[in-house]
Amino acid sequence: MKVVILGAGITGLSTAMRLAELSDFEVLVIEREPTVGGICRTFKEGEFSFDYGPHKIYSQNERIISGIKNLCGEELLTLPRKSRIRLMGGYFNYPLEVKDLLLTISPLKSMRFGFSYFYSKAKARIKPCSDDSYEGWVVNRFGRAIYETVFGPYAQKIWGIDPAKTSSDLAKHRISIPDLKEVLLGFIFPGRKKQPSLYASQFLYPQRGIQYLSDALKERTESLGRKIILSTEPVRIKVKDSAVGSVVYKQNEREVEMECSHLVSTIPITELFPLFEPSPPSEVFSCVDALSFRSLILLYLILGKERVSSDCWLYFPEKDFIFNRVFEQKNFSSVMAPPGKTGLCVEISCDVGNELWNATDDEIFERTIGDLEKTELIRREEVTSYFTKRIRYAYPKYTLDYRKYLLPLLEYLQGFENLIPNGRQGLFRYNNMDHSIEMGFLAADHIIAGKSRDDWNQQLKRFEDIKIID
Ligand SMILES: Cc1cc2nc3c(=O)[nH]c(=O)nc-3n(C[C@H](O)[C@H](O)[C@H](O)COP(=O)(O)OP(=O)(O)OC[C@H]3O[C@@H](n4cnc5c(N)ncnc54)[C@H](O)[C@@H]3O)c2cc1C
Repeated sequence: MKVVILGAGITGLSTAMRLAELSDFEVLVIEREPTVGGICRTFKEGEFSFDYGPHKIYSQNERIISGIKNLCGEELLTLPRKSRIRLMGGYFNYPLEVKDLLLTISPLKSMRFGFSYFYSKAKARIKPCSDDSYEGWVVNRFGRAIYETVFGPYAQKIWGIDPAKTSSDLAKHRISIPDLKEVLLGFIFPGRKKQPSLYASQFLYPQRGIQYLSDALKERTESLGRKIILSTEPVRIKVKDSAVGSVVYKQNEREVEMECSHLVSTIPITELFPLFEPSPPSEVFSCVDALSFRSLILLYLILGKERVSSDCWLYFPEKDFIFNRVFEQKNFSSVMAPPGKTGLCVEISCDVGNELWNATDDEIFERTIGDLEKTELIRREEVTSYFTKRIRYAYPKYTLDYRKYLLPLLEYLQGFENLIPNGRQGLFRYNNMDHSIEMGFLAADHIIAGKSRDDWNQQLKRFEDIKIID
């Protein structure tokens, strides 16, 4: 049996390692980049090391956490989660505490939030607002005033779509508080039984960066004799009847064909279809064209001071700031920055090809520094240097009708008994590292057990209602 895996992100690597540990199947992982890890990578810049965006390790799945502990051993730090959110001119601990809000914001504003909430509840009894869109889902649970102040602008900024045209699936995955009522009851009756926590109060982190986890998966896989080839891309996937027969990839300008009994694809679903030979029908490509990913520009700033704050990361939902979040790598691990200096990573969402995506580092810095100064965290003259990195496939864009296009694509793939789409990109599914590892393990178990393609769809059901733990 030969398993080819496309993509050496966390999902592809976890699949490969598990297959290597539990079977004698031949495994080949094909990765486009010169390093493994996908979004979970760390790079060096002079004396600094940085992740591509903050990557805390947290899971409610004990099996996954113990697997990660086995892989990373003493490298893992346990850190208290410390983060704040900037709202209405002030900083609040995150997750938000009602008492902090009440102590800081004006009574008029609190009343506005309260009235708006009760109004939306009363209105819902007469004419319920649809829960289909992100906007509707949030207004139904928090009222319009809170939606317009916090959730709406944040969603618009991160995903770049009007929240009224964004699927409520995003809100369900991302918003951990069920309803404003829960927050208020928790404030009035502190001893009340709360919902299971959807915030990580502490998390694990490898002290030299998240790359350590990706590298540990790679090393374990290779130590068991399986192959991972880097800087290589598939150029064709040859299919016949209802199965994938082989994958052709390019290595050193030479095409190599690898027959396979199974193909696991963790590359972006939109990149998979053009590889099929023979080519899928044109209706399939209409669906492919209707799906897109939101991208991220990461602006890294080097500062000549010990620390900017004690926060791991800070959220900036309001539209006054071009960025969504700022994270300070040194607060994850002090060995990642030299003494007397620190580095900030500023996350700016954008679309591939738009003005920002094509801007130079100097232009991005100039567009950002004014907003950064407004945060009162840093001053321009403290910045000694800056540079950017880009993540093309950062977030699947859940438009209102994304399922209309995604489902036919998944159905098409289901036609191939030995093809398993998987992971955040391969399934167009918002997930975290722990889900990716679990998906990887499940795919390997599925292949080893020789189960049917329908069984794989059943396995994936458990990820339908996942919450992204903040
Ligand atoms: C900014 C940011 C912060 C995050 N923070 C956290 C966090 O704190 N905690 C957490 O648990 N999760 C976090 N996540 C989510 C986490 O990063 C992902 O869930 C996880 O990395 C997804 O892994 P994956 O293998 O499915 O996808 P990817 O990491 O995207 O891997 C796909 C791989 O396929 C390769 N590839 C693509 N196209 C091709 C091709 N044609 N040929 C060959 N190879 C190809 C890519 O190079 C990549 O290596 C964060 C995500 C982002 C964007």
